[in-house]
Amino acid sequence: MHEMSVALAVVEQVEEAAARAGDVTAVRSVRLQVGELAGVVPDALAFSFELACAGTLLEGAELITEAVPGRACCQPCALDWAVGMPPRLTCPECGKACTDLLAGRELQILDVYWEDGGPTHTPTREPISEER
Ligand SMILES: [Zn+2]
Repeated sequence: MHEMSVALAVVEQVEEAAARAGDVTAVRSVRLQVGELAGVVPDALAFSFELACAGTLLEGAELITEAVPGRACCQPCALDWAVGMPPRLTCPECGKACTDLLAGRELQILDVYWEDGGPTHTPTREPISEER
């Protein structure tokens, strides 16, 4: 399941960031940016995330997903449009297939809120990698 591997990668990244930070006792929430074209179903991801968090520092953490609408552009026409769902990847002006995606493939952690007695932190913003 695609969402499960994403959830596991998120948990792994947060655990690594928490380990680097030191005395983190619990993770409250994780904010994740999810592009419309990233192929992730938010409900399935929320479910997988809960499972992936069990028994880790993230147990009980809330997953907040921020959807990023897909946008594509056509260079010759200097036009960009919302691709929508299902995605429209041909230029509305000239009808040619577009190869430039401006947004929509995002899959990365924006913020993590955890408890260590100090202020909240933002980990490094690395895209989620599913290569394991
Ligand atoms: Zn065009």
